[in-house]
Amino acid sequence: MKTQLIVILLLVTTGILSAQSGTNTNNYQQIEKQADAIYNSLVKIRRDLHRNPEISKQEKRTSKIVSEYLRNLGLEVKTNVGGYGVVGILKGGKKGRKIAWRADMDAIKTDEADVVDFESKNKGVRHICGHDVHTTIGLGIATVLSQQKENLEGTVYFIFQPAEETFSGAKDMIKDGLFEIIKPDEIYGLHIGPGPSGEINVKANELFAYQKSLKIKFKPSANEKELENFMNTILNGFVRNIEQNGSPWDIINKISDSKIGLTKKETIFKDYFILQGARLNTDNGATFYNASFLETDVKKVNSIPLEIKKQILNSKFKDAFISIEYSKDYSGTPINDPKLTKIASQTISSFYNKEMFKPLYGQTPYFGEDFIYYQQKVPGVFFFLGGSNIEKGISSMPHTPNFAVDETTIKHGVQSFATLILERTNSK
Ligand SMILES: [Zn+2]
Repeated sequence: MKTQLIVILLLVTTGILSAQSGTNTNNYQQIEKQADAIYNSLVKIRRDLHRNPEISKQEKRTSKIVSEYLRNLGLEVKTNVGGYGVVGILKGGKKGRKIAWRADMDAIKTDEADVVDFESKNKGVRHICGHDVHTTIGLGIATVLSQQKENLEGTVYFIFQPAEETFSGAKDMIKDGLFEIIKPDEIYGLHIGPGPSGEINVKANELFAYQKSLKIKFKPSANEKELENFMNTILNGFVRNIEQNGSPWDIINKISDSKIGLTKKETIFKDYFILQGARLNTDNGATFYNASFLETDVKKVNSIPLEIKKQILNSKFKDAFISIEYSKDYSGTPINDPKLTKIASQTISSFYNKEMFKPLYGQTPYFGEDFIYYQQKVPGVFFFLGGSNIEKGISSMPHTPNFAVDETTIKHGVQSFATLILERTNSK
């Protein structure tokens, strides 16, 4: 009797959860097969993009490939939105919700040699942030969802963004009328992360730490060494829980630690101030103290410059103080809508391999993203998708010389996020 009751309760509970998240395992199974079928062609596209990387604001070839591909799928396509930005519009068979997916397209200047045999043909430019994979996953999702058109109750908008690395692409697309062209109810996107291929990580609210830099101007002072020591003492006074001694690598290596890493409840990355660098220099007769840091708490982000100014004005350097410059926007981190993060987590973990969906308990340091500019207009969620494969010697930590991505990541990305988008358009 008791067992039966539990079974009924379980069924009811599962029923409620599915209704909330709109989960339909059947959709996932269909999408899984469709993504398998296009996998080889996606790998070809990705390798072509990798061979022909383009830096920020010069993504001419990439955007042409993207727009032609989307037109061939039958999507309505707008080009040259905020530079080389491309928008694809896929209308479903029935009316429903409007969901946007964003992928970025630009590569990076680097002289580090490539680690794959389909290396970059553009000397000094390479995809070491995985945006070739992001673009390919976006095209894969568009392909699969085009094949699901009959089941699609709503509209999917694909945003292929230029110039993410310069933090200008999202702003430029919005300024150029992106949200007049499309009116999404929700927006989603991903970045390749250092986890194993296919591992999905997400967290409500801030995904990364806030990255800030400040510049304090002083009148030329005879006691520069003394002033620098004084300022270092102030800045070191903010350091909390994590200390960067020289290179950031000791800290970065702890991100995936099995006890204190980001996916562990006991993570050290919940609450911290990391001082990245600070120094005094003289320029054109003026003295500047520059510092950059990572901070998890937005309240502290706002109060730190005021606190620094107060301490200077209470010191013997008060007469030498001229100004403090501090960037006001919060461009460093995506801020994930808590309600949508919860729904997306329930949805993904209901069809995806449970081992491969891992929530994060802390804010990732040393990462930056301009996805926040979309989230300031439309609620949304930004994910990490792991791309490493230790057995194959593939490490997908962005912006590192050995950066590479296990290509099975493309398939995982298409399967899980095409399903998520379908569930979201069709949700009531
Ligand atoms: Zn990136």
